Amino acid sequence: MAQSIATVRTVKDLRSQVAHWRQAGDTIALVPTMGALHAGHLSLIAIAKEYAKRVVASIFVNPTQFGPKEDFKRYPRDEASDLGKFAQAGVDLVFIPATEEMYPLGFATRVSVPSLTEDLCGAARPNHFEGVATIVTKLLLQCAPDVAVFGEKDYQQLLVIKQLVRDLNIPVEIVAGPIVRELDGLALSSRNDYLSTAERNTAPILHQVLSEAAEALASGEGCDAASSAARFKLEGKGLRVDYVAIRDPETLAPLSGPIRGPARVMGAVHLGSTRLIDNVPTALKNR
Ligand code: AMP
Repeated sequence: MAQSIATVRTVKDLRSQVAHWRQAGDTIALVPTMGALHAGHLSLIAIAKEYAKRVVASIFVNPTQFGPKEDFKRYPRDEASDLGKFAQAGVDLVFIPATEEMYPLGFATRVSVPSLTEDLCGAARPNHFEGVATIVTKLLLQCAPDVAVFGEKDYQQLLVIKQLVRDLNIPVEIVAGPIVRELDGLALSSRNDYLSTAERNTAPILHQVLSEAAEALASGEGCDAASSAARFKLEGKGLRVDYVAIRDPETLAPLSGPIRGPARVMGAVHLGSTRLIDNVPTALKNR
């Protein structure tokens, strides 16, 4: 029999359950998602459980972070299956607000972090990060967790969230979860479902090429050479490259020449009509 799980659909009910737990002295972790759950999401739940007694997960396909030509309408939605997965993973409460609950008539505020969102995914997806920053700020204020967990899969997003939490003095610890991958290296993503069989067979090349660039950087190759080689390899496989970038892992500042400390190799490509992103860490080898 399917496990049952508590759900709330309004901010009022969310707050009342959280207040109840607070009264009992429980700590709370929040894991925001857009549903269409896979093992990457569930790994964040496992991390959340290490940090807090109670885990709240949210499911909200946030319209403001999709561009007008993006996949908001066709984004996969399967609430019943998601609830089963969250129950299995040990989530205590799922918050599933309707769009009008999050954006009632007259909603007018936007949260933006321009310095971190002008390039990389921000360049290709104008307003995307403003949508993300606004909804995450709302979720953090609505739930008021001790900890919130986000995946490194969306590395730029993770830094945007850390920055807005610092800047707005939101009293929450942001915890990063490592990227969960398929055996062939492809980062799990709800959007992988869009790939045709042929595209799915090609997709692991993104992780492979970023990893090769990370290895070359670790061995002393310059950033420009490593990113050009990566771009060339991806284009050679028929992928349309949005960016390959080698960045400071804390500030996302572009790096040049051989790396002197930790760096992040980040990439975004189009495979048919699907946009895939990935990133890998690298650091100079001790020689
Ligand atoms: P989404 O449902 O795509 O908005 O993602 C919800 C959360 O899951 C975000 O913090 C993502 O970074 C994280 N996430 C998505 N895919 C993965 C993955 N493959 N490994 C780890 N975390 C992930």
